[in-house]
Amino acid sequence: MAAAARTLRIGLIPGDGIGREVIPAGRKVLESLPSSLNLKFSFVDLDAGFDTFQKTGTALPDKTVDTLKKECDGALFGAVSSPSTKVAGYSSPIVALRKKLDLFANVRPVKTTVGSSRGNPIDLVTVRENTEDLYVKEERTIEGPDGKVAEAIKRISERASSRIATIAGEIALSRQAIRAAAPGTSAHTKPMVTITHKSNVLSQTDGLFRETARKALSAEKFSSIHVEEQIVDSMVYKLFRQPEYYDVIVAPNLYGDILSDGAAALVGSLGLVPSANVGDNFAIGEPCHGSAPDIEGLGISNPIATFRSVALMLEFLGEANAAAKIYTAVDGNLDDGKFLTPDMGGKATTQQVLDDVLKRL
Ligand code: ATP
Ligand code: MG
Repeated sequence: MAAAARTLRIGLIPGDGIGREVIPAGRKVLESLPSSLNLKFSFVDLDAGFDTFQKTGTALPDKTVDTLKKECDGALFGAVSSPSTKVAGYSSPIVALRKKLDLFANVRPVKTTVGSSRGNPIDLVTVRENTEDLYVKEERTIEGPDGKVAEAIKRISERASSRIATIAGEIALSRQAIRAAAPGTSAHTKPMVTITHKSNVLSQTDGLFRETARKALSAEKFSSIHVEEQIVDSMVYKLFRQPEYYDVIVAPNLYGDILSDGAAALVGSLGLVPSANVGDNFAIGEPCHGSAPDIEGLGISNPIATFRSVALMLEFLGEANAAAKIYTAVDGNLDDGKFLTPDMGGKATTQQVLDDVLKRL
């Protein structure tokens, strides 16, 4: 007798701009996964974003948060427009969502395909702590004898450092499982985690991060992982000199912010880079790009970042095999190069890229 299929309920939050073009394409990818995976999906459409704010006065309706919390296993988030001037009462719904669902890790893989002509393939992921460090935003300005002095609190806790290092270890193992399920898509052979810090200068804050991360990654279940450390400045240097070396990079909030944007630049178009916001029991896949108003409605937005975000979400929902199928199909599309959107130098539409990826699935 066949085992009962697992059904995952996914919240779809297209948001603004091209989010409304790429999220429906991402849904199609989920719906087209091979039935041999024994995986089913149900979907619920949810509102958030600047348009929602203009219509309802709130960028993140309670219903969206409640539905995600009560009904959903995971979600896909498209993009939100950020108004160029400050609008009273408006704040980013994804930032609020991360807080409300305690999504403490921001995970951003960047990858070139093995067949790429740009030298050694890059295949790394930054795992950024998302709740503390300088982002606690406790700043003050005092009037000193020689003028103003501004200060900010950098807060690092054992709890947050430990859970981010633990998830980095789990990601390293999951990536190894994906490599096994999708052979030929990566040049790495062994899981590795690089702990990034500046504890030579900030011995207490970054010192605690380093020490706690080391301890978390010394757990028995991570014994197959090679763990190393890198001071953040030399990390930047090596990341740009030798990006193919890295597998998983774990960092406190600020360094993670900078490193993940830098890493994204290594692979060209923003339309390729996925992310996930991850907590203990929930994951939201989110392409790294914004709402791209300059190409909205033209039907040419690159859906690859979304497809990879779909796969990433599946990884965190424990479906590495399904994720591997999507990664293989996407790499096939990119390697082949026949159906690429204009940001990649091609002429294909969003729909054509989708069709090509579906065919490969
Ligand atoms: P926002 O304020 O929402 O971030 P933005 O104007 O900064 O909007 P981004 O979405 O950040 O726009 O995109 C920056 C540039 O990259 C734009 O020129 C955009 O067209 C391009 N771009 C972003 N995402 C994609 C995509 N998926 N496909 C093609 N081009 C993209
Ligand atoms: Mg932007």
